[in-house]
Amino acid sequence: MEHQWSCSNCGYVVKGERPPEECPSCHQKCEFRDVSCYVPECGGPTSGNVDPRLVGKKD
Ligand SMILES: [Zn+2]
Repeated sequence: MEHQWSCSNCGYVVKGERPPEECPSCHQKCEFRDVSCYVPECGGPTSGNVDPRLVGKKD
């Protein structure tokens, strides 16, 4: 299953089964957070959407 990965450095979202080694946007080896949607509010796990609550979150 594909997940949505958000770069912890620049916030770029990449789609794939696992996070990339290097961010295609900022070219850093940063951590990627899984921001895939798992709730019906954004379309559910099969929608391929990101969860807006996770993408917008700063931690
Ligand atoms: Zn990045």
